[in-house]
Amino acid sequence: MGAGFTGLWTAYYLARRDPGLRIVVLEADVAGAGASGRNGGWASAILPIGWGTVARRHGREATLAWQAALDATLDEIEAVCRREGIDAGFAKDGFLEVATNDAQVIELRHELDIARRWARSEADLRLLSVTEARDLVNAPATRAGLFTPHCAVVQPARLVRGLARAVERLGVTIHERTPVTSAVPGLVTTPAGDVRAPIVLLAVEAYVTQLAGRRTERLPVYSTMIATEPLPEATWAGIGWDRRVTFKDFRRRLFYAQRTADGRIAFGGRGAPYRFGSRVEDPVAGLERWRTELHQTLLSVLPQVGSAAITHAWGGVLGVPRDWMPSVRFDPLSGFGAAGGYSGDGVALSNLAGRTLADLVGGGDSDLVRLPWVGHRSRHWEPEPLRWVGTALGERLAGLADAAEARTGRSSAIWGRAFTTLTGR
Ligand SMILES: Cc1cc2nc3c(=O)[nH]c(=O)nc-3n(C[C@H](O)[C@H](O)[C@H](O)COP(=O)(O)OP(=O)(O)OC[C@H]3O[C@@H](n4cnc5c(N)ncnc54)[C@H](O)[C@@H]3O)c2cc1C
Repeated sequence: MGAGFTGLWTAYYLARRDPGLRIVVLEADVAGAGASGRNGGWASAILPIGWGTVARRHGREATLAWQAALDATLDEIEAVCRREGIDAGFAKDGFLEVATNDAQVIELRHELDIARRWARSEADLRLLSVTEARDLVNAPATRAGLFTPHCAVVQPARLVRGLARAVERLGVTIHERTPVTSAVPGLVTTPAGDVRAPIVLLAVEAYVTQLAGRRTERLPVYSTMIATEPLPEATWAGIGWDRRVTFKDFRRRLFYAQRTADGRIAFGGRGAPYRFGSRVEDPVAGLERWRTELHQTLLSVLPQVGSAAITHAWGGVLGVPRDWMPSVRFDPLSGFGAAGGYSGDGVALSNLAGRTLADLVGGGDSDLVRLPWVGHRSRHWEPEPLRWVGTALGERLAGLADAAEARTGRSSAIWGRAFTTLTGR
């Protein structure tokens, strides 16, 4: 169920593993219509949950093994793009995170300290001076930077559509415009008819909340993006963004940016607010406001963009589990499985999930099936109106903490701590 990255990577590895399998992917809209065709294109080795939290339950070695598997996933995605002729503009040029005020410098040093304790060496994560950071992306407010090579960029819509074609070549059938109305072990129901299958896999991320009895399984959170027109060489010279490193700073109301293969800046951030009752609605409703906000943020971070036109704006919905821990699950007895809950980090994680689900379904023992996220069950989100009040408050606190830190340059003791207490982040 679901022809996003998770469903398609799973189908891809299953079909390659056993060409005799009959695999059918049921998709409510068109392949890639969900977050997979709409994201910021960071194929990053970022886990959405802290190493320490994972280790408390699974131990240090398992935590490091998960991170290593995710690091290696970027090369796997590149290898599949090559093998299948998918022109997704893949470039593994790393990720630059900059601090733009004293509070963010403290946060940056904290992140570096933690990373060192988790075996991230100088080769994995490097502290950059202002000059070194601005050589990569010339953001005038930069006070310090961190650089990791463990991040690639893709054009996500091309990747997901290319993947859909690749799985079809392997004999998989994708039924688009075929929404599943109920899925239980062995039986999937759609308006067009039922599918009986010994194995049923759920790969619908935020949309899982729309299925009966699953409303509180994840929090559907909206993210919005804009893209500039292709920028002229003179503008790029001013921005100095020669390699396609991905780029963000340390604010809580985050933005994420990439230089696209065709010379635009694609710039994203949190979008429309959470909708009461976990309703998943048209992610572009209210887009004009988010487009303006994102444009203003882009200009404040990179004023060199100047009067360049914003030619595209869009939004999408991602799924956040209550404990921020993504999961891959498969019950061999019932044949029912699922993967997801990547929050905003599913581009690379979904590939790892697809390979892991394929191993689980195939029944084989592998290093992947022993990783900490396999079999994990997150607790559910609170009932309404708590869910709505909590998310609205979290958003507000994040904005207040960022604003206070930008104004005073000091860590926001009140708003920042309240935000951390509320969200656990
Ligand atoms: C704007 C935005 C920016 C993001 N940026 C990044 C980024 O830069 N890096 C990163 O790592 N992650 C990013 N993410 C998150 C990432 O895109 C997702 O984690 C990932 O794409 C999830 O893939 P998926 O296949 O599990 O889910 P989806 O891509 O959401 O796919 C689920 C599919 O299921 C289908 N579906 C839903 N209900 C049904 C049903 N009843 N029956 C059949 N089909 C159904 C949907 O139509 C959809 O195609 C971003 C997300 C958004 C929205």
